[in-house]
Amino acid sequence: MSVHRFAWAALISLGLAAVASAAESDRLHPKVREAFAEVFSSSYLELLEQSQDWEFSPTQIETMRRSLDNAQETCEDSFKDEDERIEDRVEKAQRQLRRLRLDGVEEGAHDLRCAVQNGRIEASQNRAFAEHSVPLAYEHQAAKLDLIEDWPRALREIQRDLKTGDYRLREYGDVEDIGLRELVDGQEKDVERGEQAAREIRRMGLMPRELEADEVTAYVRALADRVGRRSDLRVPLRVTLLDSPEINAFALPGGFLYIHRGLLEAVGDESQLVGVIAHEIAHVTARHGHRLLNRATVASILYQAAQVGVIIFTGGAVGIAGYYAVQYGFAGLGLVLNLKLLGVSRDYELEADQLGIQYAWNAGYDPSGFIRFFDKMAREEGYIRGSSWFRTHPPFYKRMLQTRREILFLPKRDASIYQTDAFLKFKSALAACAVESEGPADRDPCAPTLLEPYEKDCPPPDKIDYRPGDPIEAVCARAVARANRQ
Ligand SMILES: [Zn+2]
Repeated sequence: MSVHRFAWAALISLGLAAVASAAESDRLHPKVREAFAEVFSSSYLELLEQSQDWEFSPTQIETMRRSLDNAQETCEDSFKDEDERIEDRVEKAQRQLRRLRLDGVEEGAHDLRCAVQNGRIEASQNRAFAEHSVPLAYEHQAAKLDLIEDWPRALREIQRDLKTGDYRLREYGDVEDIGLRELVDGQEKDVERGEQAAREIRRMGLMPRELEADEVTAYVRALADRVGRRSDLRVPLRVTLLDSPEINAFALPGGFLYIHRGLLEAVGDESQLVGVIAHEIAHVTARHGHRLLNRATVASILYQAAQVGVIIFTGGAVGIAGYYAVQYGFAGLGLVLNLKLLGVSRDYELEADQLGIQYAWNAGYDPSGFIRFFDKMAREEGYIRGSSWFRTHPPFYKRMLQTRREILFLPKRDASIYQTDAFLKFKSALAACAVESEGPADRDPCAPTLLEPYEKDCPPPDKIDYRPGDPIEAVCARAVARANRQ
């Protein structure tokens, strides 16, 4: 165990203890708790590369699972309590504002309007944490428990299928014929719908502006083309980079691929970026959008997005977002777009994972990059800024298990690309352009144009006490401490 890892493990067991003081996990022997903390701080890839059985008993795993549930609930409750306290403050400010207006007094109105606006922003941050970030972070931990429970058995089955040759019978098992096989007829029929959707999203002011960085764009386009040429794609790939901190990427039907700046910043090597691009290409090749939409029109699909966009804009009581949620990047375009349009459903995610792994492999890349990207999303900022990429997802442990299974079924390659000099050059070009876009403008230049504050010249709202790289336990421990102080 590295020193870094040990620090993580210690922090996590401390955090867990702080979050649920009478925690179920207190019943576990400290040595067992420490071992669990090590599991949680291990990456998915590390857990999947382990083949021997773990030494936890089913009862210990069950106790740990309950302990996680309690910790999650306590944490969510403290964010919800904070939300309610803020709502009370907002109502009070609104009453005072009404009284001022009745008395015909202007003085103090600006401060009250700012109090209402900031209160709504702060409340929506707390709700977004309670409803998205916290559950997502704990779901990754639960997935790791499921993995250590299920993986040894699953691996034995995989090895048996490899020995008997049964793995060849799996769906889309004909990987030698990628590019020549037809998954679903008629990809080219989707182009018109994709084009129309892109136009509408832009017209409604929901599309963040494009990232203006030629070197970065050229690199990502060339990479996406390389993967696209080694996939089952029958339509040209059109890649657009969006200047937004969300860790997100999505594909519209017909080959329109959108990647947010936040995702480009989050990926750690070329094979991770390829993993995400390949997954999105798979949504296009398998025509997931078309299969989910049937005969729905673009206008009817986007009507909902327009509604949510307007509610965010006016600061209404929508449960998911808010102006600052967009600035943090944990909400935004990714949360308002219709999932059917993006071809996202539980079953199709698993299919896109499988096909994406095949495309990354066929393009000569280390297909484990996709798992390493998941690891990034499970830790660091991923669970805060990347939650929209995970909407309507199958359980993580199932995705990780199936992804690893597909990798083991693929014919072995002597060498596969993991990192390149071009990627490192792209990263420094990206860092330079991030500095540029965070220039002196007084509003976030990356926020979609629709998201202007209502009242100008207010003090900045309080941000949630969250520091990039915080594990969830640290975030929760502070939230609980704050709730206890009230
Ligand atoms: Zn997907």
